[in-house]
Amino acid sequence: MKKNQLKKSSISKKYQNLVNEINNFEEIFQTFSNNELRAHNFKLKKRYQESKDLNSVIAESFAITREASLRTLGLRHFDVQLIGGLVLNDQKIAEMKTGEGKTLVATLPASLNALSEKGVHIVTVNDYLASRDQAAMGQIYKFLGLSTGLIQSTMSKIDRKKNYSSDITYVTNYQVAFDFLYDNTALNLKDVVLPPFNYCIIDEVDSVLIDEAQTPLILADNIETPVDKYIAAAELTNFLKSTIHFIVDEKNKNIILTDEGSKQVENILQVQDLYDPREPWIPYIINAIKAKTLFSNNVHYIIQNNRIVIVDEFTGRIMPDRRWSDGLHQAIEAKEQLPIRQKSETSAAITYQNFFLLYPKLSGMTGTGKTAEIEFEKIYKLSVDEIPTARPNLRKDLPDLIFKDQFSKWNAIAKTCNQISSTGQPILIGTTTVEKSEMLAELLKEYNLSYQLLNAKPENVRRESEIVAQAGKKSAITIATNMAGRGTDIILGGNIVFAVEKKLYEILTFSRNYILLKKKNIFESTLKTQLNIYSQKFLSVLFSLLQENTFLQLSDVEVLRLLRETDKMLSVNNSINCSIKFLINELTIYYKKHQQQENQVVKNLGGLYIIGTERNDSRRVDNQLRGRCGRQGDPGTSQFFLSLDDNLLRLFGGPKIQNLLQSQMTDDSPLESKLLTKSLNSAQQKVEERAYQQRKDLFDYDDILNQQRQTIYNARQSILVTPPMEIERSILGYGEQIITDSLLELKRNNFSNKQIIAVFENLFGKNLIFNSNDLNKLKRYLFLEFWRFYEAKKLELAIHGDTTGEKLGQTIILINIDRLWREHLQQMTLIREAVGWRSYGQQNPLYEYKKEAFKMFYDLAKDLRHLVIYELLRSEVL
Ligand code: ADP
Ligand code: MG
Repeated sequence: MKKNQLKKSSISKKYQNLVNEINNFEEIFQTFSNNELRAHNFKLKKRYQESKDLNSVIAESFAITREASLRTLGLRHFDVQLIGGLVLNDQKIAEMKTGEGKTLVATLPASLNALSEKGVHIVTVNDYLASRDQAAMGQIYKFLGLSTGLIQSTMSKIDRKKNYSSDITYVTNYQVAFDFLYDNTALNLKDVVLPPFNYCIIDEVDSVLIDEAQTPLILADNIETPVDKYIAAAELTNFLKSTIHFIVDEKNKNIILTDEGSKQVENILQVQDLYDPREPWIPYIINAIKAKTLFSNNVHYIIQNNRIVIVDEFTGRIMPDRRWSDGLHQAIEAKEQLPIRQKSETSAAITYQNFFLLYPKLSGMTGTGKTAEIEFEKIYKLSVDEIPTARPNLRKDLPDLIFKDQFSKWNAIAKTCNQISSTGQPILIGTTTVEKSEMLAELLKEYNLSYQLLNAKPENVRRESEIVAQAGKKSAITIATNMAGRGTDIILGGNIVFAVEKKLYEILTFSRNYILLKKKNIFESTLKTQLNIYSQKFLSVLFSLLQENTFLQLSDVEVLRLLRETDKMLSVNNSINCSIKFLINELTIYYKKHQQQENQVVKNLGGLYIIGTERNDSRRVDNQLRGRCGRQGDPGTSQFFLSLDDNLLRLFGGPKIQNLLQSQMTDDSPLESKLLTKSLNSAQQKVEERAYQQRKDLFDYDDILNQQRQTIYNARQSILVTPPMEIERSILGYGEQIITDSLLELKRNNFSNKQIIAVFENLFGKNLIFNSNDLNKLKRYLFLEFWRFYEAKKLELAIHGDTTGEKLGQTIILINIDRLWREHLQQMTLIREAVGWRSYGQQNPLYEYKKEAFKMFYDLAKDLRHLVIYELLRSEVL
């Protein structure tokens, strides 16, 4: 504890002078009018343009943003938030607990860095959060004369491009990384949506840079898939027995086929050799056994619309766009008897690790970063600074309770819920799988407790947020899988933003239906009695809205959309929006009064009670769950209920512990054991290290490709922006190089000049007239012919009225770069697998991989020249 405080104070000390400076400027800016403030921000931009030094304007910029926030949102950044902002600007990770206001913190370095006009990206984990944060924080930026953009998954290229060109853009990690990959397959400059990278702030940075960084992002094209083999292999598993025919290595998620097993499979399939490279069966068999033994429905994946959708083991969140690679996904489809979808071929891929390192200036914020500090340092060169909380933390973390088995554990959880909720204290229970959530829900039913169940199958993240937001209401019991609704503010007594929206939606749709049914009179009298809790003005605005035909014709969904859009609008432009804005404001005022009382009631009850039902694979995820309570100095309690046969203990606890505890536990009563907690902590660390090692491996391998990817992407980029004339020159250069190489080659093989001429006649598709024995003359003659050929080709295209003639060279080069790169990627995947095997021969696989990669890449440039020229000579005018 002491050590912690010492550290905290050191970070405060480090930035104390700057914080004082900001506070001093604040006093000056308070006297400025709104226009003067904006004008001053422009002055800062000018000053930056002259000095190119952000540090010289940092204090003023932070102070002006703080003032803008106070005037637009009514929120004044706390001093600790200023420190958070300074840490972000110093390219570090700011660890700030949940509820400390990280969304607002980001506005400080964002506004500052926007002064450079080179763009700022604020990255969040889902579309909903991006849109929420942009709408709210956008008001501050607008006040300062800065533009904001928002990227959503449904957006067109044109809209993306426009939004990315803003001063500050809110976007998800997924969208921005895929836009990058797509940009690097563009054949025209106008299809490129991203400007060069500059500064990036990643919210929930551990989620993005660690949890999501387990698998690379892949752009893929489909290729032919041997569906029969997958089905046969799946059926075959019914004839194989664990330990006799195969061994399951649960820790490493791997399967080993025994000799007995190989024989059995060969017998059933009537094949000679499972490992025959011309007709390989072994990968299908292994995948089928993996699918059967290591992957379960509703744990590792769910089935949705006849598809397998991966559930992220760390977060419990579904990942609809991801697929397991190397045929595993197909094997699981076969096991579940679903349609088997095609295997795909990678056309572009990148890991988050290498993607985010493309930003010259990177930073991040999270409530839980410290335990992953080493990974952040090693891979991203990001250090983690712990920012003190604005108010002291009052959360009570009770010691773990350990039960002898699942049965006693879950019963104890249900019983505890029953006890706690009898006072009305709200409870949030974190589970690791959908199955367990549902099982607990059943148990709670037996106690007649009502609850909200939230698992990995949400209709959408917004709805998820809505439920989590209300987890702090009196008597609420919420069951949620890990990190569901992450980023959502749990306010004791309930969240009014969502409550207002819900209430207004109810009022509007309900009353509109009455009007449409032409029961105006009954409606007015019922409504007046029901709604008289609101002001007179509220009712009259509501009634006038109900006179508007355009409003009456909206469907319910459209009403909801209208509500949400209006809520986000900074200024309203028509009478319907205006009325709705008014109604929202009125309800907000009403609910605020109410909320204050409710908030106090729940505080008196002890705040939110968090129950963890299993230790997760990383301490971060546990801390994340605990951190959902005790927000901004609120009271709160957290406790974990564990069992000896929980996965983590079972796999990593070791037999000694198991035996010892088993002997101590005779009945259903729990145990609080220091030894066990210690062994759990070390088990957790083991799992964390293992996962880190896997990501590090992924990173190390991708790093080799990364340099090549950058070379290729830079080459592409420069071709996109090079004028056609210059490209033409390089194509002529390619041609001359190839002619020279071929001449040498032919000569070496003792071709006579006559034979050589014949070869080139074939290539150019015309007769060549050359009578001399001088090799140099021949070369020059061929150069000239090639140039003529190229000119003729262009002319041909022009005559056909094809304007692409001018860009002929560019398109051909780009298409061929892409083709080669794609082939290179497939080759590298193969090599990656091959070196894995080779490592048994005591060679370092990474080193081998690197060697092969360099060799192959070296040939790439030569291949490109050949392909381009070859294609050019063959290209037909359509
Ligand atoms: P975090 O992302 O750190 O968990 P949020 O950004 O979601 O926190 O903010 C949590 C709550 O704190 C929000 O309701 C926000 O409006 C509020 N908040 C943030 N900063 C301030 C401030 N300076 N003063 C008052 N309330 C604040
Ligand atoms: Mg947040």
